[in-house]
Amino acid sequence: MIGLQGLGSAAAGPTRYRVLRCDDGDVSLYRDSGVVLRVQKLGEADRIVTLLTRRHGRVRAVAKGVRRTSSRFGARLEPFGHVDVQFHTGRSLDIVTQVQTVDGFGARLVGDYGRYTTGCAVLETAERLAGAEGEPVQRLYLLVVGALRALADGQREAALVLDAFLLRAMTAAGWAPALAECARCGSPGPHQAFNVPAGGAVCGQCRPAGSARPAPETLRLLDALAEGNWPVAEAASAAARREGSGLVAAHLQWHLERALRSLPLVERQPRGLAGVD
Ligand SMILES: [Zn+2]
Repeated sequence: MIGLQGLGSAAAGPTRYRVLRCDDGDVSLYRDSGVVLRVQKLGEADRIVTLLTRRHGRVRAVAKGVRRTSSRFGARLEPFGHVDVQFHTGRSLDIVTQVQTVDGFGARLVGDYGRYTTGCAVLETAERLAGAEGEPVQRLYLLVVGALRALADGQREAALVLDAFLLRAMTAAGWAPALAECARCGSPGPHQAFNVPAGGAVCGQCRPAGSARPAPETLRLLDALAEGNWPVAEAASAAARREGSGLVAAHLQWHLERALRSLPLVERQPRGLAGVD
């Protein structure tokens, strides 16, 4: 016999439902919404699925039997899947017991190589920024869902969506680059130099040797992306977009390297760092 407590309210919630069983003590179920970041094969028919969830942060769970063609929820647990999931708490990894699709972003991204690879960069960065398993990162979760929705909708340029996501995700992680005021002394900008280790834009007094000298338009673009000011961002020139992407990627890489020295770097390389002196 299995006795359930709390399962009357099946709506998504942070509660871990206790299930009392007479055979091997307590097990528990919990529900959450999440985005599938990655899937790995496990044995003949199973997969390990890594999700970024709304309330439980990064979760790695086993999805049993999903590689069989008869699987009811295998297709829902592909990367980019935005799903509502029920988990059963396991000894090492939790087990997926139910899946419902909220948004099938993957199906809308696979037809466009540029948007698909940009989406991959969002998922990869999200996994690295999510921190320890189970640590709630709701702001990051919302940013990932928003970025994937924007990529799937196709209304905005993919590179701008990615840079807006990266700037906001870095802000959520406490790594926001200074874009207007000087990163060191706080004097109001606009400033003409940008230095990643110093923390972003720097004034003429604080500017370390080797700082980049981006075009003023580039820093205005990044500020607009961080603030969600799309009319300003979308009016930026192609040169400013390229240079801005380079600064964002360099800033992200520097912080990821410091935070996660043992992991390989993101594939996206800094580019457009014109005017280094
Ligand atoms: Zn300064």
